[in-house]
Parts: sequence; structure tokens; C-alpha cells
Amino acid sequence: MTQHALPDDYTPAANILAEKVILVTGAGDGIGRAAAECFAGHGATVVLLGRTQEKLEAVYDAIENAGGAQPALFPLDLATASEDDYRGLASAMENTFGRLDGLLHNASLLRERRPIASASWQAWSEVMQVNVNAPFLLTKALLPLLEQAAQASVVLTSSGVGRRGRAYWGAYSVSKFATEGFMQVLADELENTSRVRVNSLNPGATNTAMRRAAYPAEAPTTNPSPANIMRSYLYLMSDDSSGVTGGAFSAQP
Ligand code: NDP
Repeated sequence: MTQHALPDDYTPAANILAEKVILVTGAGDGIGRAAAECFAGHGATVVLLGRTQEKLEAVYDAIENAGGAQPALFPLDLATASEDDYRGLASAMENTFGRLDGLLHNASLLRERRPIASASWQAWSEVMQVNVNAPFLLTKALLPLLEQAAQASVVLTSSGVGRRGRAYWGAYSVSKFATEGFMQVLADELENTSRVRVNSLNPGATNTAMRRAAYPAEAPTTNPSPANIMRSYLYLMSDDSSGVTGGAFSAQP
């Protein structure tokens, strides 16, 4: 896999996402929340998708209080959403915005960490549903809207264990390899026929509920807060990465 890096001196401009409409999944907490607030802070109108309405409302309020453009809320549980739900989302977006400039697939489930030999089928299926099947269904439903943008960016959230397998990371690790595969297939399909670019981004160890669950013995402050890893997110979502597609990026060295 080719790993890609940002230009060393990359500094995003203050209004880098002005006029852009960007959908973020898992926008109620952790890295998704930070990304939604950061995108809005750089001029974007964000669509907040997540499964917990109150968390989405808190992010909505934070964005409005900070002076950002009014966001749109879309509560949806990616574990149970049907293809019709995704079509409904696409129609609502079409009616409200008429296009989509950015799609950040961020929501994921970690679930159990144990040997493959004792992994539960139910947990395995849930992880694959949220981490692999949902991004496929959401991307498929939203591709026509992404094609309406002057140029659009799809970013899929990967992980270190999606680039090198590690014992006991089970379905989560395998789902992140699938994420990288999906990114490569879609990027290759769209490269010469579309203005939509597709890349993956590994945020690296970040102080969120997921990280704290995976490493309960670790001091949370060992890792940066989500707000402090946003440079690569801004680069990939903005026109600064025009023409960049099929790349596997990392938000931290
Ligand atoms: P969190 O668990 O802190 O946040 C995940 C978000 O996804 C939450 O808002 C959660 O909603 C949402 N979500 C989970 N399941 C569903 C679902 N079924 N439907 C809709 N939304 C859902 O994770 P992080 O912020 O740490 O992770 C964000 C991304 O970064 C993930 O893709 C993760 O794999 C990746 N990553 C994180 C690393 C880290 O160190 N933090 C390292 C490498 C990769 P709710 O708030 O309602 O639970």
C-alpha cells in the first residue's frame, strides 16, 4: 500500500471550506464531533449523522454558538439502517442542498477484542455492518450528489490495524482492511471519469471513548485530543487536495 503524506508546510486557510456541504458520520462524539466542528469553523455547512440524537443536538448547538453555518441533523443508526433509509437521506440532501462536496465516513464500532477462535458471530456481523456495509450503502446513495459538486472528496477512516493486522483486533481490524480495499476500488473506478476523489485516513491514537475502551490502562492524555489532529482532515476535505485520490493518509507521524 502506498502511504501518502501532507505537504510538510501545509497550513489550511481560515475559510478553506466556505460554500462546501460536508456530511460527517458519527458526528456526535470523538473525532467525528471534532471534525464537524472544525469543518464548520472553516466555513462548511455540515450534515451531522449519528445514532444518538442528544449528542448531535449538542454538536449543532456548539456550531451555532461558535457562529458557524446552521448544520443539518440526520439521526441514523448505521447498524440497522436499510437501503431505503439511505435513499431517504439522499433525497433530503438533494432537496435541501442539491449537491454534496464532502463525505467523511468516520463512525465505527470496535466491539470485542479477542482471538478469532472465540470471536462471536454476532459481534463480527455488527462490526462489519457499521464499518463496511454502511459506508458502502451510504456512498452508493450519495454518489449522484457528490457528482453534482464542482469537485468532491470522500474520506474513509482507517486505522493502523487496517494496514497491518494485529492479534486480537478481530473484526475491527478486518473491517479496516476492507475500508482500505473499498477506498482503492472506488478511487480507481472514479479516477478518470469523475470529479470525486477518494482517500483513506488513519487518525492514529487519539483521546476518545474508543481509544479509552481499547487501552483502559493508558493515561488518556498520552494521546492528542481529536481537535488537535484536524490538519489532514482539512487538507483532504478542501480543494487543497484537488486531484489527490487513492491515497492512504495518516493524521499523525
Ligand atoms: P468513538 O467511539 O469515540 O466515536 C464513534 C462515533 O461513531 C460516535 O459518535 C458513535 O455514536 C458513532 N457510531 C458508532 N456506531 C454507530 C452507528 N451504529 N450508527 C451511527 N453512528 C455510530 O470513536 P473515535 O472518535 O475514536 O473514532 C472515530 C474513527 O476513527 C473510527 O472510524 C475509528 O475506527 C477511527 N480510529 C480511531 C482511533 C483512536 O485512537 N481514537 C485510532 C484509529 C482509528 P454514539 O456517540 O452515539 O455512540
